[in-house]
Amino acid sequence: MKKEDEGLRVGRFRVKPGSKVDLSRWHTRVPDVYTDEADAQRQLALQVGRTSELQDMLYASDRYSLLLVFQAMDAAGKDGAIKHVMSGVNPQGCQVSSFKQPSTEELDHDFLWRTTLQLPERGRIGIFNRSYYEEVLVVRVHPQYLAAQRLPDEPKPDSKGFWQQRMRSIRDYEAHLARNGTAIVKFFLHVSTGEQRERFLDRIDHPEKNWKFNGGDVEERQHWNEYMRAYEAALSATSTRDAPWYVVPADDKKNARLIMSAVINRTLESLDLAYPKLDKARLAELKSARRLLQR
Ligand code: ATP
Ligand code: MG
Repeated sequence: MKKEDEGLRVGRFRVKPGSKVDLSRWHTRVPDVYTDEADAQRQLALQVGRTSELQDMLYASDRYSLLLVFQAMDAAGKDGAIKHVMSGVNPQGCQVSSFKQPSTEELDHDFLWRTTLQLPERGRIGIFNRSYYEEVLVVRVHPQYLAAQRLPDEPKPDSKGFWQQRMRSIRDYEAHLARNGTAIVKFFLHVSTGEQRERFLDRIDHPEKNWKFNGGDVEERQHWNEYMRAYEAALSATSTRDAPWYVVPADDKKNARLIMSAVINRTLESLDLAYPKLDKARLAELKSARRLLQR
């Protein structure tokens, strides 16, 4: 298949390792990569079809796994993105995990424990709807959460060093996973405050969307700038060659989904997947099985 995503130029959304991210300079909206609704659907269907083929090979070759991390402010469209972008993929080869406030059991372990339990097996795709990154995002914005973690050396949450150490743990963790065959891609769905407000209002005004509305999200919105600073620090410190961050303009959901789906396909393609080649003995076995069946 000719690269369906050529017009998307997804490389422009990747955070270069070592660069310093200033989110005010990253777009929340870019010119549409589709011409109309039908075109968006057609493009996504093509790309999702390709994801499905690649996932089949990922499974058959049983050497790598793929971890997709989704992080965003509320109402940025994580859930919809996961639903649409993975819609054609064999459910047996794919697992979605959502991470909310940690339980007491989870708090009794180090901060990478609960996500480790959900890492994808070889041959599979794992999707993290929020992740260990919350530990340098929501926890950084609300450092009082640290008290419940009962850390040994009384961290000074206001000190930069503490968060640098956490991000180092994350970098080391991701490098370790990559060395052992997990390809990692991280998406930050970048919405504007204005777009978030519209989506909240929409949830209030449409009865069928009321269930999605959470009053706490509106309060959390007051910390917008602190969240942006925390995201900037995290993206700057943890976008690496093996585990890059993509800042996806998310004010337009269709655009965002096409971009993410293209990134996922590129990542899978970079693994040079192939169906396992059979040796002579196994080929002979297949031939004799065929003869047997034909009798
Ligand atoms: P949705 O609202 O679409 O259902 P969500 O991911 O926002 O999805 P919620 O249950 O609304 O799910 O919120 C989960 C909350 O848990 C978020 O506010 C998130 O910041 C918080 N959270 C996740 N991980 C941690 C963590 N390690 N420590 C503290 N809070 C966390
Ligand atoms: Mg929520």
